[in-house]
Amino acid sequence: RQGRHNQRVAVIGLGRFGMSLAHELMRGGWEVLGVDADEKLVQRHSDALTHAAVADCTDAEALRQLGLPDFPKAVVAIGSAVEASILVTSLLLDHGVPTVWAKAISRQHGRILERLGAHHVVLPEHEMGERVAHLVTGRMLDFIPFDEHYALAKTVAPSVATGRPLGRTRVRTTHGVTVVGIKGPGGHFTYATADTVIEPGDVIIVTGETAAVEAFANLG
Ligand code: ADP
Repeated sequence: RQGRHNQRVAVIGLGRFGMSLAHELMRGGWEVLGVDADEKLVQRHSDALTHAAVADCTDAEALRQLGLPDFPKAVVAIGSAVEASILVTSLLLDHGVPTVWAKAISRQHGRILERLGAHHVVLPEHEMGERVAHLVTGRMLDFIPFDEHYALAKTVAPSVATGRPLGRTRVRTTHGVTVVGIKGPGGHFTYATADTVIEPGDVIIVTGETAAVEAFANLG
């Protein structure tokens, strides 16, 4: 990873989203400053974070005192307080924080954050809703869309892909998908090659155009 100075992330808003994010960053070895206006929340989570502070981040002075302008990365994890989310995001951008992520609770909110110049805008509920739709209606165990037409899915291997070396199943030519990972019962995922033989019941990871991936998973 980069130099020590770059390993710091500020998370503003320690609600469910902010805390899940902060915990995962801590697990990944990042230094995390968590800030929330709610003192009780900060107290509850302070042991789990490198630093935790109580502050209203719409206050430019408070933001400066916390050293937020010097952070290489910041995440604005304020959701329902839309005005605060917008103000904090614009303050961080004014201070030249190089990478600002912001969470939006509606598409309009997201558009405003993008207009302000937020480098990354996420809509957790919308994105998760779309993802779950693909799981509810089909046989996929997990689904990650990229761009508009490309996706990665985890699924139980359809029978067309099992019983002989992957290269000989010709699934890429006939179904437009590439098998990238395979996991047998009780095992771990490993990469797949043309010689890999998938057994019935194995779980596989496939990529390709969204429609092709879905159709392939639903072959059963
Ligand atoms: P979630 O759904 O992830 O819990 P919320 O929008 O409900 O997200 O809450 C995010 C957190 O942001 C809350 O804990 C709230 O106290 C905090 N917050 C809201 N406004 C500010 C602000 N101006 N400065 C700091 N923290 C704030």
